Amino acid sequence: MKNIKDRIGVLQDDITVLEVDAIVNAANTSLLGGGGVDGAIHEAAGPALLVECRTLGGCPVGEAKITKGYLLPAKHIIHTVGPVWRDGEHGETELLRNAYSNSLKLAKKHGIQTLAFPNISTGVYRFPKRRAAKLAIETVRTFLEKNSTPKKVLFVCYDGENYGIYQEILNANL
Ligand code: ADP
Repeated sequence: MKNIKDRIGVLQDDITVLEVDAIVNAANTSLLGGGGVDGAIHEAAGPALLVECRTLGGCPVGEAKITKGYLLPAKHIIHTVGPVWRDGEHGETELLRNAYSNSLKLAKKHGIQTLAFPNISTGVYRFPKRRAAKLAIETVRTFLEKNSTPKKVLFVCYDGENYGIYQEILNANL
């Protein structure tokens, strides 16, 4: 198996343009669309996505559900729900870790080889960015060490601040 370092990438981009097996959506528990990356994904995938999402019955925080990608270049969308940051004393860390690990498990189950994550919970949900990045990288790395699928995981940063944080952590630790 390839080195873990070669199986993790970071880029600054709009996640909706990526040609990967699946992109992850930072959704809310209704799975019926919202703002931020969720809004961008629904906009780019087209209205058929909402039709499928309506059949899913929502998604609890930390869990994940899969749909087709519709008009996206990505074949699938894994919808997960990150926690809203309150004060760090309400299980936020574990819930964010679950959002990443349950997305990875679902990707593996569906044979997804290339998977792209946005910076879950770091927008409207206000999870501290550096803390979220460390947790995301650690969770992905641990999963990839034990599993050969997905082959490649990309962290897709939209804002420059997150991009800088991810580059710094990955360069320091790998
Ligand atoms: P949350 O509610 O989980 O915080 P947001 O969508 O508000 O979700 O923000 C999560 C992250 O997604 C933020 O870092 C934000 O900059 C980023 N983001 C917003 N639009 C896009 C996009 N089109 N592609 C990738 N990331 C995006």
